[in-house]
Amino acid sequence: MKDAYNRTIDYVRIAVTDRCNLRCFYCMPENGIPYEPRPHLLSYEEITRLLNVLSTLGFSKVRFTGGEPFLRKDFMQLLENTANATDFQSIHITSNGTLLEKHIPKLKDLGITKINLSIDTLDPERFKTITRRDDFEKVMRCFHLLLENNFQVKLNAVIMAGINTQDIVPLAKLAERYPVSVRFIEEMPFNGGYKQNVKMFSAQAIRTTLENHFGTLTPLPGLHGDTATEFSLPGHLGQIGIIAAFSRTFCNTCNRLRIGPKGEIKSCLYDDGVFNIRDFMRSGVSDVELTEKFEEIIRLKPKDGFEAERMRKAPNTAMKSMSSIGG
Ligand code: SAM
Ligand code: SF4
Repeated sequence: MKDAYNRTIDYVRIAVTDRCNLRCFYCMPENGIPYEPRPHLLSYEEITRLLNVLSTLGFSKVRFTGGEPFLRKDFMQLLENTANATDFQSIHITSNGTLLEKHIPKLKDLGITKINLSIDTLDPERFKTITRRDDFEKVMRCFHLLLENNFQVKLNAVIMAGINTQDIVPLAKLAERYPVSVRFIEEMPFNGGYKQNVKMFSAQAIRTTLENHFGTLTPLPGLHGDTATEFSLPGHLGQIGIIAAFSRTFCNTCNRLRIGPKGEIKSCLYDDGVFNIRDFMRSGVSDVELTEKFEEIIRLKPKDGFEAERMRKAPNTAMKSMSSIGG
């Protein structure tokens, strides 16, 4: 399905919960965010229904995220349903890696092998400062277990001025020994009100830091809908990438739609929710009506993140936590 700017929209990201066991300070305040009561969340049957409707519109890729998706008790059931009862071939998960380990065998059985793990530093003390939890060893163990089990792993690191810029090169060096894509993300102002003004360490500054160490980087050809500019490094098993999440330089190839824990649809990360599909579904609509609603939402997808931001009803982006948006 194409939007008004001739972009093919075929990728949905679903935040299955707004709850999290970490407290990354770029994402939420120390005391967390007010969580939605369980009945407010989309049930896994509702999510499966939405996926089936979206696949009739040509969607082929889904990413489950959150909050921490593995905190949700019926998450494995949802994955099983997605793998067995929908046409989605490309099933991805973004996780903080603290609760994932015991699910590795089942994920393999289901053929779900594409996992993004978030890790912003290789220094255990800094990890504790950033996430406000002492789980570095757990996350690293999960990383190694995933690789041993032949998962396709990408690492996400949010880079913050004055906090973890010294981690850029050590994290990138993981791509030397391991077949992973290490991606550096610009910090965005979605932190649940923790701080209003984000002093961004830009994609260009990240690239300069990498080039100062590794020499000139030549971008690899982009794939459909890529947000990361990827680079290979000579002699490295993996690759590195930079995601200009705040500069928003990739909007012209955007291929995605987001569904939040309560069914709020965002056709752009920077809008403040364009429609509540949970309420619409719970009002008893048919699959045809759901399909037509998605068509309308996709047609109205804004040109880019700047336009979406201008159209917001609630102007303060920082009040929203990425945990309830689904990063
Ligand atoms: N809990 C899981 C995790 O951390 O991977 C999934 C949800 S988390 C919201 C998804 C991604 O969003 C993570 O890679 C995280 O680093 C990123 N993220 C969260 N807040 C962000 C922010 N303010 N700016 C940029 N990325 C952010
Ligand atoms: Fe939790 Fe992920 Fe947000 Fe960190 S980034 S607080 S792990 S949802």
